[in-house]
Amino acid sequence: MAGTKNVYLFGKGITEGNGSQKNLLGGKGANLAEMARRGFNVPPGFTITTEVCSYYYAHKREYPATLNADIKKAVAALERATGKKLGGSKNPLLLAVRSGARESMPGMMDTILNLGLNDTTVEVLKAKSGNGRFAYESYRRFIQMYSGVVLGVERANEHEHDPFEVILADARKARGVEHDNQLTEADLKEVIANFKKLVLKKTKKEFPTDPYQQLDGAVGAVFASWMNDRAILYRKKYKIPEEWGTAVNVQSMVFGNMGDNSGTGVAFTRNPATGDNEFYGEFLVNAQGEDVVAGIRTPLKISTMAGIPALKHCYKELCGVRKQLEKEFGDMQDFEFTIEDGELYMLQTRNGKRTAQAYVKIAHDMVKSKLMTPEHAMASADPEAIEQLLAPVFNKEAYQKSLKAGNLLTKGLPAGPGAATGTVAFSAEKAERWSSHGPVVLARVETSPEDLRGMLAATGILTARGGVSSHAAVVARQMGKVCVAGAADIEIDYAAGIMTCNGHTLKEGDFISINGSTGEIIAGKIETAPSELIQVLVNKTLAPKHSELFRYYDFVMKLADQYRKLGIRTNADQPQQAANAVAFGAEGIGLCRTEHMFFEGHRIDYVREMIIFAAEYAEYKDKLVARPDDADLLANEYHIAIAHFNDALEHLLPIQQKDFEGIFEAMGERPATIRYLDPPLHEFLPQSNDQIDLLSRRLNVPFERITSIVAGLHESNPMLGHRGCRLGIVYPEISEMQTRAIFRAALAVAKRKKKLPTPEIMIPLVGFDREFQLQAEVIHRVAAEEMKAAGKKIPYKVGTMIEVPRAALTADAIAKHAEFFSFGTNDLTQTALGMSRDDSGHFLPYYERSEINIIKVNPFASLDQVGVGKLMKLAVDAGRETRPDIKLGICGEHGGDPASIDFCHRLGLSYVSCSPFRIPVARIAAAKSAVKELLEAAPAKKAAAKKTVTKKVSVKKAIAKKAAPKKAVSKPAKKPVRKVKK
Ligand code: ADP
Ligand code: MG
Ligand code: MG
Repeated sequence: MAGTKNVYLFGKGITEGNGSQKNLLGGKGANLAEMARRGFNVPPGFTITTEVCSYYYAHKREYPATLNADIKKAVAALERATGKKLGGSKNPLLLAVRSGARESMPGMMDTILNLGLNDTTVEVLKAKSGNGRFAYESYRRFIQMYSGVVLGVERANEHEHDPFEVILADARKARGVEHDNQLTEADLKEVIANFKKLVLKKTKKEFPTDPYQQLDGAVGAVFASWMNDRAILYRKKYKIPEEWGTAVNVQSMVFGNMGDNSGTGVAFTRNPATGDNEFYGEFLVNAQGEDVVAGIRTPLKISTMAGIPALKHCYKELCGVRKQLEKEFGDMQDFEFTIEDGELYMLQTRNGKRTAQAYVKIAHDMVKSKLMTPEHAMASADPEAIEQLLAPVFNKEAYQKSLKAGNLLTKGLPAGPGAATGTVAFSAEKAERWSSHGPVVLARVETSPEDLRGMLAATGILTARGGVSSHAAVVARQMGKVCVAGAADIEIDYAAGIMTCNGHTLKEGDFISINGSTGEIIAGKIETAPSELIQVLVNKTLAPKHSELFRYYDFVMKLADQYRKLGIRTNADQPQQAANAVAFGAEGIGLCRTEHMFFEGHRIDYVREMIIFAAEYAEYKDKLVARPDDADLLANEYHIAIAHFNDALEHLLPIQQKDFEGIFEAMGERPATIRYLDPPLHEFLPQSNDQIDLLSRRLNVPFERITSIVAGLHESNPMLGHRGCRLGIVYPEISEMQTRAIFRAALAVAKRKKKLPTPEIMIPLVGFDREFQLQAEVIHRVAAEEMKAAGKKIPYKVGTMIEVPRAALTADAIAKHAEFFSFGTNDLTQTALGMSRDDSGHFLPYYERSEINIIKVNPFASLDQVGVGKLMKLAVDAGRETRPDIKLGICGEHGGDPASIDFCHRLGLSYVSCSPFRIPVARIAAAKSAVKELLEAAPAKKAAAKKTVTKKVSVKKAIAKKAAPKKAVSKPAKKPVRKVKK
């Protein structure tokens, strides 16, 4: 690393780095530099860069050649700045050694304080402070921290006590006191002697006395800690890349434990739970460092400092700091401070973590008062967290009480956030029946489309099998239901009507509560309340003006809409869902799955009738083509099949029409993408003998015949079988019926509402352009017939889902006829990876393990950008080649996943579509991606302006760039840029 700067100084007059260098200096280091620059009182120090960390791991844990000298130079600079000397016998410099990744990783490594102390310097500290207890207490802490963190002297296993704590406990016992701070100087000396003995015994070496040697060890320990188990686990959970590395901050010590005019604390500039504009924090008098967090002593509320005469002036200063921090850093800050002998020092600041509620309030308040830029409000959003705002909540006290009472049964996967409580039902039918008497939680081993009615009726859904993208979870989120999936400890015995879990037994009908935000499953009833936003937007039981939360939410959402370029649509099958989606901000429907409508009420009977006779009817048609002269003969021979098949379609037509009318009414003139029948037919057929018997009597068809048809429809690989457009190709009558239903519905609504619905008809599972062409012909023909009959035109489009690789590879040909593509990334992932989503649970978790490390995230939850994404890119480019104005969207589950949304933004898609309750998440995610692009472009803007654009730039981006406002970084776009595309 010759020529690279390894070490950056910070402190009054010597600061080299700044707040923008978080990648290089880590979050803590960069902000310490920035605070020092801006005149906050920061004890001087230096930061060893994250690049050194990367070097260290790339070179078998060796440091860059110059590092040692660089550190020595930096220490010398600190000595000049403080007038102290490391290891000095007159005025020793003591140091804090602190880790610091780009993003804070709490608990990754313990900070080492008071470094530089030894038997000599401790005496100087005593003499200078006139406080022997303080000096030896500091020394005691140093040895304890250093031995644990650097020398690895720890308890051998979790059943043992920390050996240092054992020594301390013995000392307290001998003295007959309760707290460490009641130990005398003499006690502490003895404790220290015992500590050193312990270290010698465990490490076979004396505790290091040379401060430079101490510093060396501490720096090495911070770098090494980047790869400890805790750090690896934390990174995995929060998706922090390993390559980032950590920085090391070495800082001169200040002492909060020098007496009653000293102290230490942590504060937020606003309330991080509610977002209220109030000073929020805690401190301790006469205390050092982590005492506040460790909870050994109960800290005081920050405001009480105003009443402590020795610290009153510091409180005043802190109030100023609070204001100034927000002004300088443009966000709510979480900061750490220490007061030494009446002087306030700043030790850390960062953007404070907050709840979703606090996020919207703070964004609203701070953007309005110009303390925060709107770009930052977007860039700092956690899209995922927005969903918290929609979730029903448990009544807090009731919840705690229940947990305390030991009612927690087990934990599953948090698959649909919120709280649900109700009687537990083990079948869809019971869930539906019981739901009229009160809330029901539907518990199933796993769910299938047949359970839909039960899921609709239930407030919460619980499954023993299946992951967060299982059918239950997908549908639950679409409906905004609380859902806990894959609770493997649970066993449900349908026949006996009991559910057992870890020794508890619940009977069907007992009360159960599930927390879809944590996955907790709790026996018994717990009071809940719907979220305020749901009351305003969905239930409409609360006027917007009466909900402050709604105001903040709405402000943030509108801000997001100003930035995002992606359109936002919803996956919705029912008018109510569609209406909810519109309330959440949907600009259209991206996916209406027609088959979900097939299960309701008696219509399933007609669907089944259609299926039972479909094959025979197809046979009849084949013969008719071959022997046109025998038409009468054939009609007679097949009259039963013909009658039933057509009769079923005739019955289904008005039913579907009605469904579509509902959808169009809810959507107004917003586009509604309707997908034609997709699943394999056997999914609709009766499975149990009882059901077959019932159908046999209803249709007047022998039992055996139905069983044989059901058996005949069995496929060894239904996912790749007779489904999607392959149904419409063999049975064009079904596509014809669906087309008629759509146009009759659209025409009826147009007449009633004086608004023109805009259907976008979507053909599923196309792999050959000819498939598409054949289906499109049917649609255009029937559409023309219906529109002619009504004497009115409906604007419509016909497009396809891109969900098999062949479609992506031949997108140029398909785009000749298709007016839009929508990426069905659920199936595209399955077909591209050759991996069945429903079966992936057996091996994907294994693939994700850090030591196996085949994949980083589940490709069914977050788009496989490298593989599947490449297919999408191919299709986008090829589609645009043929049809420059082709509309491009995504309607897989990925449409609600922020990382996938970001990818779609970069691909330049027209819209993403997700379940109604994910829409706020998607709006924010899309805005965040757009802002990220703006901010990245901003510094390079001048350079870019000079260069002529030689790279291939997508049409959309080129237009968007032109349309982007000049002062994009300080002001939101006045006109939504995304409108350009529409
Ligand atoms: P974390 O990242 O876990 O918050 P820090 O590096 O912030 O760790 O250190 C933890 C605590 O140690 C701080 O809150 C502060 O109280 C104390 N501390 C850190 N640096 C110093 C210092 N230079 N002087 C005095 N105390 C310090
Ligand atoms: Mg800290
Ligand atoms: Mg599909």
